[in-house]
Amino acid sequence: MKRTTGYDRAVTSTWHPATQAVRGGTLRSDFGETSEAIFLTSGYAYDNAEEAAARFRGEHPGMTYSRLQNPTNMMLEERLCLLEGAEACRVTATGMAAMSTALMSHLSAGDHLVAGRALFGSCRILVDTILPRFGIHTTVVDGRDTDAWAKARRPNTKAFFLETPSNPGLDVVDIAAVADIGHDAGALVVVDNAFASPILQQPMTFGADVVAYSATKTMDGQGRVLAGAVLGSEKWITDTYMAMARHTGPVLSPFAAWVIHKSLETLDLRVRRMDANAAAVAAALDGRLPRLLYPGLASHPQRDLTMRQMSGGGTIIALFVEDRRQAHGLLDALQLIDISNNLGDSRSLMTHPASTTHASVPVAVREEMGITEGMLRLSVGLEDSRDIIADLDRALVAVGL
Ligand SMILES: *Cc1c(COP(=O)(O)O)cnc(C)c1O
Repeated sequence: MKRTTGYDRAVTSTWHPATQAVRGGTLRSDFGETSEAIFLTSGYAYDNAEEAAARFRGEHPGMTYSRLQNPTNMMLEERLCLLEGAEACRVTATGMAAMSTALMSHLSAGDHLVAGRALFGSCRILVDTILPRFGIHTTVVDGRDTDAWAKARRPNTKAFFLETPSNPGLDVVDIAAVADIGHDAGALVVVDNAFASPILQQPMTFGADVVAYSATKTMDGQGRVLAGAVLGSEKWITDTYMAMARHTGPVLSPFAAWVIHKSLETLDLRVRRMDANAAAVAAALDGRLPRLLYPGLASHPQRDLTMRQMSGGGTIIALFVEDRRQAHGLLDALQLIDISNNLGDSRSLMTHPASTTHASVPVAVREEMGITEGMLRLSVGLEDSRDIIADLDRALVAVGL
């Protein structure tokens, strides 16, 4: 394998994100292929017995087993490092594999975790139910309230975990302020950046130590594969994350890695277009519904903070109608937008979180997260914004709005 200039950080760090997303991390075989190859291999063969032994001792840089290393995964990991400004990355089978391994590799029984309350449904279950089963104490705070993070610290606090903007309530957390408080307590600051993507927000520039993704969402962006990624310092990825992951095996399939790798070539284009579409849709509907939340709108309570740490309002809008009946009626009246719980897709998708993504979250917790029976989450896609607005207009009229 030949390393292209996309592998030379002295060169790639001078590139802009759109260039990094197209050319970063490319390895080329002797065939000189332009599109990166897929290495669907579980293992590797060695020229002789001593070479095999040397690779297992870590003295030879070659690969040994695809649970640990794979050329296709490596290309994707390098590309993601460049987009995030991170030293090291490991890709995972799903976003939840990324979140759970990032937290469980760092925490042990007796440790304490502080998390923002507005989290993706399964992340909330991880924090509230699964980690405590292993003796990890957790405290959940209103992520928007910086003082709440400070008050929640304990001598054994080892990690802060947050999502911003949050799913689906679009709470925005001040990453820089919370990271300072976390570091003061000696905690690792972990940010789930699935909603913004590295195009709109780079949490490490505000002090986050670890950034984790569901690459299933905006990174794939075409609804094909499940994937995740964890990014951090070389030291943390090697000594902490891989110390667990090499034995528990959350690794991504090379086929899915290749799909995501190719998707990243259009990430900058897609995210900027979806962001512009979302801003147009939010502006067109503002004032038409009982309530609408979009971090890029002047009416969003945290618009200034959003604009300080993101380069756009994002691609997700939360719409609030009266109740579940009206919300389901609106979904059923849509002709263009699909009823689907994925997000970040090229197709506009809408879901009713209380009866789908967050149905397994207890009602009291849902209410605390701002998920009402009348809430709908819209992921704005790549269609012409005029067609998206027309579809919503028709559906709103159908339910009397
Ligand atoms: C979807 C999602 C996850 C989980 O990712 P999967 O790929 O579905 O496992 C985690 N966090 C956020 C914010 C998400 O949107």
